This record gives sequence, C-alpha cells and structure tokens, in this order.
Amino acid sequence: MELIGPDHDLYDVLRRPAQPQYDAVRPAVIARCRSTDDVAEALAYARSRGLPVTPRGGGHCFAGRSSTTGLLIELSPLSEVSVADGRATIGAGARLAEVYRGLHEYGLTIPAGCGPTVGIAGLTLGGGLGLLGRRYGLTCDRLVAATVVLADGNVVEGDDELLWALRGAGGGQFGVVTSLVFDAVPSPAATRFRIRWARERAAEVIATWQEWAPDAADEVTASLAVTGDRVEVFGASLDRFDPGPFVDGEIDVRDDLSWPELKRSLSEEDDERVVHSRSEFVRAALPRAVIDELLGTGCELNFTPMGGAYNRVPVDATAFAHRDERFLLEHVGTDRDAVRRSWSIAHPHASGHVYPNFPDPDVPDWHTAYHGPNYERLLSLKHTYDPTNTFTFPQALGGAR
Ligand SMILES: Cc1cc2nc3c(=O)[nH]c(=O)nc-3n(C[C@H](O)[C@H](O)[C@H](O)COP(=O)(O)OP(=O)(O)OC[C@H]3O[C@@H](n4cnc5c(N)ncnc54)[C@H](O)[C@@H]3O)c2cc1C
Repeated sequence: MELIGPDHDLYDVLRRPAQPQYDAVRPAVIARCRSTDDVAEALAYARSRGLPVTPRGGGHCFAGRSSTTGLLIELSPLSEVSVADGRATIGAGARLAEVYRGLHEYGLTIPAGCGPTVGIAGLTLGGGLGLLGRRYGLTCDRLVAATVVLADGNVVEGDDELLWALRGAGGGQFGVVTSLVFDAVPSPAATRFRIRWARERAAEVIATWQEWAPDAADEVTASLAVTGDRVEVFGASLDRFDPGPFVDGEIDVRDDLSWPELKRSLSEEDDERVVHSRSEFVRAALPRAVIDELLGTGCELNFTPMGGAYNRVPVDATAFAHRDERFLLEHVGTDRDAVRRSWSIAHPHASGHVYPNFPDPDVPDWHTAYHGPNYERLLSLKHTYDPTNTFTFPQALGGAR
C-alpha cells in the first residue's frame, strides 16, 4: 500500500472526484491499493488513527460519497480483467472502457453502462443500467462472486447473503470490494441508432416514447434525451433496426461498430460544469400536460427504459428493489432550483423509487425510495457485516456517523 499525502506529486491527481462540486473535499491521506492485502492494511491504518474511510472506484458518485476528509481508498491499480470458463473477473478499480476492451478480446461483454470512466465497482453495487440490460438484466444481476475486505480487515468471498446485498444496495456500505466475478455474455454485433427532431417536437416524441420503449423487444434499448434545442431517441438494437413509431425523425444508423466502439459512441464526456441532477422511476405514462410543464423548466430530461429482463427478476431476489418500473426520468441542469422544480412536477406521477446509483440527498423517505421492501433485510445484513458502521455517509444503511 502506498500512502499519498497532500505533499505528494500524485495527491491532486488522485484526490479529484469526477464530479467537480466535491473538489473541495480533501482527504487527509490517500491509500493507493494494489491488492486485497493492501486494502486490509489501509483499513488498519485508518482504524489506528481514527480516520473515516471511503472507497473510490471511478469517483462518479452524484452525492460525493466517494470523497472524504479521512482516508480515501484508491483502487485504480486494481483494474485487471481476465476470463475463465465464460466468467469475467474484474478488479474493482477498473473503469467501464477498460472492462469492455478487456472482455471484447475474448468475444465477451457484460451488460453495463456507457460512461467510459465510470467505475465497475460503484456501477455494479448500485445496479447497473445499460444497452444490454433489457436483454440480460442489470450489471449486478450477472454478479456471481466478489472478494470483500470487511472493516476489521477480514477478507471474505461474498456468501449468498452478502452477494445478495452487493447486488444493488448501493456502494460503500458493507466493505471494500476488491474483485468482482460476472457471468459474461457474447459481445454482440449491434446497430446503433440516433433519431433526432427539433425541440418543438419534444412533447409528442416523449408521449410516443413512453408508450413504446419500455415494451419494445428485449433486443432494443431506446433512451430519450431532451437537450438544448433538440430531442433525440438513441440506443442500440441487437436485431434488425426498426425505428418503430419514429419514422419521421432524422435517422442516423451505424451497424459497423464493434461493441466497445458502439458504447463509446453513445457515451457523454465527463462534464466540467457543476450540474445538478434528480431522478425517479416512473410506472405509468406521464399525462401530456405534465410533459408540457416539464419542458417549460429548461432542464435537460433523460428517459431510460426499464422493462424487459430488468423486470423479470423478483423484487426480493437481489437487493435492487426496482423491478416494476417502466422508466427512469432524470432532470439535469446547472440551475439547482430549475432541477428541483422539474423533479416536483414529475414527482406526483412517479413511483417514489430512486435508483441507488443516482443518489439524491433531498429525496423524502430514502429507505423506501432506494430499497423498497428490501430495506429491513439490508439493515440486518449491515449489522452483520459492518457492525461498527465504518462505511457510512448520509442515507447509508445503519445511519450516518
Ligand atoms: C458520466 C456518467 C455516466 C453514467 N452512466 C451510467 C450508466 O450508463 N448506467 C448506470 O447505471 N449508471 C450510470 N452512471 C451512474 C453511475 O452508475 C454511478 O455514478 C456510480 O456510483 C459510479 O460508480 P463509480 O465507481 O464511478 O463511483 P464512485 O464515486 O467511486 O463510487 C460510488 C459509490 O460506490 C462506492 N464504492 C466504489 N468502489 C467501491 C468498492 N470497491 N467497494 C465498495 N464500495 C465502493 C463509493 O464509496 C461510493 O459510495 C453514470 C454516471 C456518470 C457521472
């Protein structure tokens, strides 16, 4: 383990989270970990000095939960990707671009998100939505084993109960995961599509999308984004491309991209701006008047389809409690009040459930919002695996310190 303090050349590079609003949260020390033993040593160091401790994967947490004024466990050297018998073993410090590149060499992939610098650990532990999700489920649905260092330094290979909790409760709650094993799937030949219209068409496109995308064939994942002066339906199809009800947009189709290239082509660059975001799952179509009101706030709106394989898993089969939703609606903008207004307009029509990977410090009743009926079981597992409440933050299981 390498300890990196504020005077070290690497300190400023490693301490910075991906979200600029948490730049000012400076760790007392960074433990750069290259192995599971290093993580155990880092935890012992934090214990001996009474420092709070936080693991970081890709550093993308919207609520700044991978930033700390104590000891930051930095895992980027642990990023190896290997495959045996169709199972992918991935170091907890790997970013998604490394994961897709590494697995593609074996003709494989896993269902996961698009952001190339998003960490596999944070993404998996909170669920994992992506272009293959309606076909194969969440990233965490493919998780079959994990190595975890508990607060007292004990290393455990996740047993059934711990694995259940790691499948979607949200990162940083039970211990530090150092490696994840997934049931991989074939890296597909797929078609990427983008269908665009001027913003004036947004209301009718949203109205059509919400009736169609969550019920489309599992092979089709079509998201919708309203940004600036346009509205776009985009995604991938594992089958022949069919624009469905969207024949009148400006259609751009590519079927010559490898799977990692396709993912990359749909990913957003990391945003240098301080952006605010709130979101909720939705179970029934939004009325047209609500859509019109949402479009009046000036916020960006992102609609992600659920349904398909996501919703065929029983709610108590994994910690991820959102198996009955039609889509996820995210409100994004640089004006926090506008984002709040937009969220409030949609809220009466939403399910009250919130994606653990899009944490929202202002959400009412966060226990139910993140964990639904799985909350009590998760709380009991928290007491079993982290009885000292070492891994904590506001809205964490077991309560913040
Ligand atoms: C640009 C961008 C694109 C995104 N795209 C998608 C997407 O396509 N699909 C999707 O589902 N989500 C997406 N997200 C949301 C993303 O899933 C979450 O932000 C996720 O928490 C990021 O994980 P991370 O490892 O990068 O973040 P981090 O901030 O490092 O970690 C998130 C949480 O997990 C904990 N954690 C990290 N590593 C470990 C570990 N090894 N052991 C235990 N706990 C750990 C942290 O302490 C923190 O609480 C996106 C986010 C951004 C900013």
